[in-house]
Amino acid sequence: MARAAAKNADVVVIGAGIIGLSIAYQLARRDAGRVVVLEKGAGVGEGSTGASSACIRLRYTHTEIIRLAQSGMTIYRQWPEFTGLSSPRAAFQHTGVLWMLGEDRQTVEAERDRMVDLGARALMLDAEGVRERYPALSTCGATLDLSGKHDHECTDHDSYLFEVEGGYCTDPRGANQDLLEAARRDGVDVRLRSGVEAVRSQGGRVQGVDLADRSRIDAPVVVNAAGPWCNAVNAMAGLELAWTLRPTRVQVMYRVSAGEIRGELPLVGDAAGGIYFRPDSRGPDGRGQQILVGSIRPEDEQEEVKDPDHFDRSLDPDMRQRLLHALHHRLPSLEYRARVTGIAGLYTMNEQDVHPVVGPTELEGFVVANGFSGHGFKLAPAIGSMVAQWLTGKRAEFDTDVPMEFLSLDRQSLAVREKSVLA
Ligand SMILES: Cc1cc2nc3c(=O)[nH]c(=O)nc-3n(C[C@H](O)[C@H](O)[C@H](O)COP(=O)(O)OP(=O)(O)OC[C@H]3O[C@@H](n4cnc5c(N)ncnc54)[C@H](O)[C@@H]3O)c2cc1C
Repeated sequence: MARAAAKNADVVVIGAGIIGLSIAYQLARRDAGRVVVLEKGAGVGEGSTGASSACIRLRYTHTEIIRLAQSGMTIYRQWPEFTGLSSPRAAFQHTGVLWMLGEDRQTVEAERDRMVDLGARALMLDAEGVRERYPALSTCGATLDLSGKHDHECTDHDSYLFEVEGGYCTDPRGANQDLLEAARRDGVDVRLRSGVEAVRSQGGRVQGVDLADRSRIDAPVVVNAAGPWCNAVNAMAGLELAWTLRPTRVQVMYRVSAGEIRGELPLVGDAAGGIYFRPDSRGPDGRGQQILVGSIRPEDEQEEVKDPDHFDRSLDPDMRQRLLHALHHRLPSLEYRARVTGIAGLYTMNEQDVHPVVGPTELEGFVVANGFSGHGFKLAPAIGSMVAQWLTGKRAEFDTDVPMEFLSLDRQSLAVREKSVLA
């Protein structure tokens, strides 16, 4: 059967997750011509974005990543202004970020100074300072035996890095929907139930895409923002990247905490128990008071999923047990009997350096924004800005100054403190 006549676009973006729609919206903000976003799902947020913990913090090994995260944080903080929506679904919830990584005083001081030099508000707290701000938190620094079989003796640790400005997005799927609304308002043609099944090229140049409904779109620029499906889309373009981008199953637990916590909670990175956690304003009753908990252990970011359309989306019982054990250690006032739920989602680990690859490929006009590992939600607004600046040469309000080359396909692997979500 012949394909329907081609419709032209200036840019086709494959995937309407937070990355694809950030790119499309940033293109529309600088009048980049006809931008078409193709999404195979019936709605947005069905990939990584909908499952995201949406933590927004700044501490990373590399200055450029901190600057991208700062740019993302600025935008999420000013979400109504950025999107131009008077009542967006998503909001930035400020909590601060407490790094309980068992680091010595010198390391924490150096990290604080490095972040302050970059314009971030960061403090060093001692155990007393932590207890004053967050009375519910234990300040133990001793590593926990996660099997729970051995006795644990809590020992106070005395130096903690505190990011004053961090927090989380209250509704990552809502943020994705907000961008859909803003992009459409500004003229982007976002088509749902429009899976791309081929990328056409000729003479080393991309020509456009073929859709599952047998229509086709011609375009001189095609952007792969297909999240955990990125390898399949790159293969459609005849590309095998030098980077290993692995769809990875990642689990998150939610524990109801109504009335059990004295005072506020920040977003916490907790090396003793190998977890991160934060308050969650959603909650089963829609009124909040639950805690979201995930792992920071590199071994919990190893489970490769061969087919991103089919994987177990539930929380494993042993993971549930480990996360609960570590959470109770850090929040001793929690009761053991509580309502606990959980999910598993996918993100695309870049095995080499847990950072994304963004930029042009050897197929002229074919651009990738892939491999965001556990950082893509906070980085998305800045990635949209980077790609849109590079494609149009135009600047707009809220732009990042980090050049796209920093994340290019032909870069060296970035040396990171730890190959994990901490990076
Ligand atoms: C459990 C979990 C916790 C996380 N926590 C954080 C966090 O705290 N902070 C943070 O910054 N990041 C976090 N992340 C990572 C972040 O959510 C992701 O990096 C980000 O959402 C990636 O967005 P994306 O648009 O690339 O991918 P996706 O959201 O997966 O979007 C890709 C889209 O492409 C579509 N698509 C695929 N193939 C095709 C095709 N052939 N044709 C058309 N459409 C196609 C898919 O349907 C999908 O909608 C977390 C992720 C998970 C899973």
